[in-house]
Amino acid sequence: MAKLYFNYSTMNAGKSTALLQASYNYRERGMDTFLLTAAFDDRAGAGKIASRIGISQDATRYTKETDLFDTIQSALASDEFACVFIDEAQFLTPDQVWQLARVVDDLNVPVMCYGLRVDFLGHAFPGSAALLAMADEMREVKTICWCGKKATMVVRKDAKGNVQKSGDQILIGGNDTYVSLCRKHWRAAIGDDAAH
Ligand SMILES: [Zn+2]
Repeated sequence: MAKLYFNYSTMNAGKSTALLQASYNYRERGMDTFLLTAAFDDRAGAGKIASRIGISQDATRYTKETDLFDTIQSALASDEFACVFIDEAQFLTPDQVWQLARVVDDLNVPVMCYGLRVDFLGHAFPGSAALLAMADEMREVKTICWCGKKATMVVRKDAKGNVQKSGDQILIGGNDTYVSLCRKHWRAAIGDDAAH
């Protein structure tokens, strides 16, 4: 039986690398895969999933308006693939997570989602909250804090290196950097007043 998977992590844990490796494992066995990634500029169409270690694969971009059930069903009509991979799954709408659940249940195709669990203020992304509620299986893609403990949180720093304590959940194209930390050191960085 096909399943809906959610592979979650904090920033810079190698999510895209893990996605591309899993896709490669299918292709190495002669099975095709269908990759989807979020469009940051409202334009669906051709895109790419790239990892920090230098590998990449073509992907189809989705926006918040994309019906993922229709998109995947149409793609299946012309192409046979064994698994669907979704990158940047934190940007899915709850409706889109339901569409992916229907792909799994009604089209019997496994869907592997990869995304961030929480934003820089410690709040769950809507897509991730829906996946945490609905996925059949969840796995954590792990990385570590500077102290060596597992990093589960992330801070966003501006161009001057100051930790941001408010702001939009999604910020594309700025000079900000993200640093993954364990919860204790995230609290120390952001302060308990901001951390609620
Ligand atoms: Zn730490």
